[in-house]
Amino acid sequence: MNKHIQSNPEWVLQASSLSKSYRSGKLKTPVLHNIDFRLARGEVVALVGASGSGKSTLLHCLGTLDQPDSGQVLLNGQDPFVLGEAARGQLRNQALGFVYQFHHLLPEFTALENVAMPLMIRRLPRREAQAAAQQMLERVGLGHRLHHQPGELSGGERQRAAMARALVTQPACVLADEPTGNLDRQNAGAIFDLMLELARDTGTGFVIVTHDQELASRCQRVVKMQDGRLVD
Ligand code: ADP
Ligand code: MG
Repeated sequence: MNKHIQSNPEWVLQASSLSKSYRSGKLKTPVLHNIDFRLARGEVVALVGASGSGKSTLLHCLGTLDQPDSGQVLLNGQDPFVLGEAARGQLRNQALGFVYQFHHLLPEFTALENVAMPLMIRRLPRREAQAAAQQMLERVGLGHRLHHQPGELSGGERQRAAMARALVTQPACVLADEPTGNLDRQNAGAIFDLMLELARDTGTGFVIVTHDQELASRCQRVVKMQDGRLVD
C-alpha cells in the first residue's frame, strides 16, 4: 500500500517512497528505491550522481512523464497519477517546465515562436503569447535574437531560449536534466546564474541535474543519487 502524503502549500513538489524498476521480458532492473523528495517554492536543488544512478528516471517520475511502480507524487498539492491522461497533461502544462541537455527547440520556428508555443497550446491569442514570449526572451538576454531560428543561435543562446520556453508559463517548478551538459564552462556558469536569478525573481523552483560539483555548490541544496537512492 502506498502511504499517502499530506498536501502542503509550502512545497511545489512532494514525492514519497517512489520506487521504479524497468522490465524487459524476465529481466527486471530496479532503478529507484523509496525516494523521498520535496521542493519548496523558489528553491533551487542540484541533483548529482554517477551516470546510471537513476537521476533522469527520477526526473521523469517527478515530471509525470513516467509512472513510478509505487509511492506518490504531489505537484502543487495535486496527485497527477489519479488524473486521466488529459488532465495530467494539463497539470503538467500548468505547473511544470522542462529543460534538457539538448534544446529540443523546433528548427523551423524562430526563438519567439518557439517560446510562445506553450502559451499557444493553452489557446492564448497569438499576440498575447508572443508578447509574453518576447518579455521572457528579453529576461534571459535574448531580446536581440527574437527572430533567429535555433540553427542561427549559439549553443548557449539555444539553452537560454529553451529556458525561456520552460518559464514562459510561469511554472511552479522547472525540471532540468543536465541543461549545461553540452556547454563550455563560461556558458554553463552563466546559465546556472540565470536559473538562480530566475528562481529568486519568479518563485519558480528548480531541480537541476548536473555532473559539475562547482555548479552544484552554487545551488541552495545538493542531493546525491547513488544506485537509485538519495543520500546526503
Ligand atoms: P542517470 O540519468 O542517472 O544516468 P537513468 O535514470 O537514465 O540514470 O538510468 C538509471 C538506470 O536505469 C540505468 O542503469 C539505465 O540503464 C536504466 N534504464 C534507464 N532507462 C531504461 C529503460 N527505458 N529500460 C531499461 N532500463 C533503463
Ligand atoms: Mg540522465
